[in-house]
Amino acid sequence: MKQSALFTKTRKEAPSDETSKNAQLLIRAGYINKEMAGVYDLLPLGMKVVENIKSIVREEMNAISGQEFIMSSLQTKEVWTPTNRWDDDVVDVWFKSDLKAGGEIGFGWSHEEPIVEMMKNHVNSYKDLPVNVYQFQNKFRNELRAKSGLMRGREFVMKDMYSFSKDAEQHELFYQKTIEAYHRCYQRLGIGEDTFITFAAGGAFTEFSHEFQTICEAGEDEIYINREKGIAINEEVYNEKTLKELGITEDDLEKVTTAEVGNIFNFGTQKCEEMNLFFNDEQGKQTPIHLGSYGIGITRVMGVIAENMSDEKGLVWPEEIAPFTIHLLTFGKNENIFREAENLYHDLKKAGIEVLFDDRDLGPGQKLNDADLMGMPYRIVVSEKAAENGGVEITHRNSGEVEYVDPARVIAYFMEG
Ligand code: ATP
Ligand code: MG
Repeated sequence: MKQSALFTKTRKEAPSDETSKNAQLLIRAGYINKEMAGVYDLLPLGMKVVENIKSIVREEMNAISGQEFIMSSLQTKEVWTPTNRWDDDVVDVWFKSDLKAGGEIGFGWSHEEPIVEMMKNHVNSYKDLPVNVYQFQNKFRNELRAKSGLMRGREFVMKDMYSFSKDAEQHELFYQKTIEAYHRCYQRLGIGEDTFITFAAGGAFTEFSHEFQTICEAGEDEIYINREKGIAINEEVYNEKTLKELGITEDDLEKVTTAEVGNIFNFGTQKCEEMNLFFNDEQGKQTPIHLGSYGIGITRVMGVIAENMSDEKGLVWPEEIAPFTIHLLTFGKNENIFREAENLYHDLKKAGIEVLFDDRDLGPGQKLNDADLMGMPYRIVVSEKAAENGGVEITHRNSGEVEYVDPARVIAYFMEG
């Protein structure tokens, strides 16, 4: 893409009411726009990042037999009453509205009850199980505090998956597969080293749950970790008994601030019993279904990456989720140089490499600042000075490493990795 055609502009300052680092950087670099506290628009660059994150998660969910679908955001009161979760005292994040035709509706903050209700039309027999479905969807939550930018939104993108199993064994098999798939997701998203699975106490309806916590200064949680032993303990279960069971002492653990990037729950058969979702087992007996629920905060992950992978100059995207792999810059009035940059742009595109070409009529200072702020993994400068140094200048955004490469070898440089 040519930068002159990109409608978003970078800006020197974020809005004065924006206090979180992730949103400040993403707004300044033109990835998102702030509508109100906790509510952001995804601009073309931001949408590309979200789509890249979704692609990774989608591949991993498909690989464990997840079927993608999409449910509505508008939900009926009736579907949430049997489990008592329509009540604002039980669920304190509801956004609700009234229908002009009469009746109340809610804006989906989760889809556990609606999906159980829907499955009544699709699951009758043990032969129909297991079923694993997932979606990427905007969730609405009336969060009391929304000061962490993308990390705590009132409208945000979540991947939510639900598993329906005939017994505890079938459930457990999928639950374990999901844990492994989640680890692969975070690894591919570039936060694997800093992401830990922790055992957590479940909510009112849950038997138990696991959280995936990523070390992040701007996070709201605290966990205790031992990297060598691969142990991570959630604050709520951190006590003498847990330490003893794990054969570890307080001195072996480091307390770190984290953000919850994923969460998985085992509902057992409780929710399906409450909502009357039964199947006919091998003996023809009506049996309640085991439900599992598995979330990943897609936009929260983007916020965490913006927080953790950035420096004083701007964003530093990992290659797998960057909107473009290369930011191609050219300086000066020399027409031959500009043509050389343009040719390189077309060649890179032809080779299937995502490239943003800064073809704007601006000085080097402004172009370099923008490239640093926007954070593509590689910057290529085509200029007279670079040519004198032996070709085009390739700078790695992350390490700052600089190389001069013969223009004819640039494609090979990227294709060979
Ligand atoms: P938290 O404790 O952070 O409020 P939660 O327990 O309410 O999270 P879930 O309902 O399990 O979260 O949602 C699944 C995932 O969605 C979370 O692990 C998190 O990554 C993400 N998420 C939850 N709330 C928000 C929010 N307000 N904004 C952005 N992402 C969120
Ligand atoms: Mg919450």
